[in-house]
Amino acid sequence: MRGPIYEPRGAAREYAELALNIYTGCTHGCSYCYAPQILRRSREAFAACVCPREGLLFALERQLANGDFGGRTVHLCFTCDPYPRDVDHTRTREVILLLKDAGCHVQILTKNPTAALLDLDLLDGSDTVGTTVTGGGPFFEPGSPAESRRLDALMRVKRLGIGTWVSCEPILDASAVLRAVEKCDFVARWSFGKLNHAKASADWGAIGKEIESTCRQLGRSYVIKDSLRKEMEETRW
Ligand code: SF4
Repeated sequence: MRGPIYEPRGAAREYAELALNIYTGCTHGCSYCYAPQILRRSREAFAACVCPREGLLFALERQLANGDFGGRTVHLCFTCDPYPRDVDHTRTREVILLLKDAGCHVQILTKNPTAALLDLDLLDGSDTVGTTVTGGGPFFEPGSPAESRRLDALMRVKRLGIGTWVSCEPILDASAVLRAVEKCDFVARWSFGKLNHAKASADWGAIGKEIESTCRQLGRSYVIKDSLRKEMEETRW
């Protein structure tokens, strides 16, 4: 596939079959972020001078004109946030416009969903806006709005008829994640994943089972990502 829309591999594929990354980096500074590693950049370089990727719009227009993407969902974004802090988000809006004009559905994942509210006029019921809930707090996510603010913004997304979802990956504080699951009945879909790119001594099998049990009791729609599911299957109780 030639162009900015690509087919993610590995664990990212569990989120989406197609994805597109808009910015050169991200200003949110999450300590667990794996994107600098993927892009082979230092954390400092990844967070500095964040701007839209060069030539993105032209390349996207060409790719959409030459391929049949109608009805397919494109995830925004994996190696950056589509609404990075202190960055002009005009390019995100332009990308969404192009995708929607081509008949694509859009799946947004951002730690700054309040900014995404400004683009909701471009979306419809076939699109989704999601945010991340890890329970990590400002120590792990120093540049992002608090999780309570993210969830408040998501509730507004839901009220406007757009699909909502929450990615709980990596789970940093299982209790906080469980509280969010219990409280946020407006979230249409949850996704849970373990911390994969750093050492963690958590009992992932037990955490996964408790989360799954809570989701079932509350009737939440959810996905357990493969690496967490594997840990759960290895826990015998
Ligand atoms: S918001 Fe996403 S891309 Fe940005 S630093 Fe955090 S994990 Fe990385």
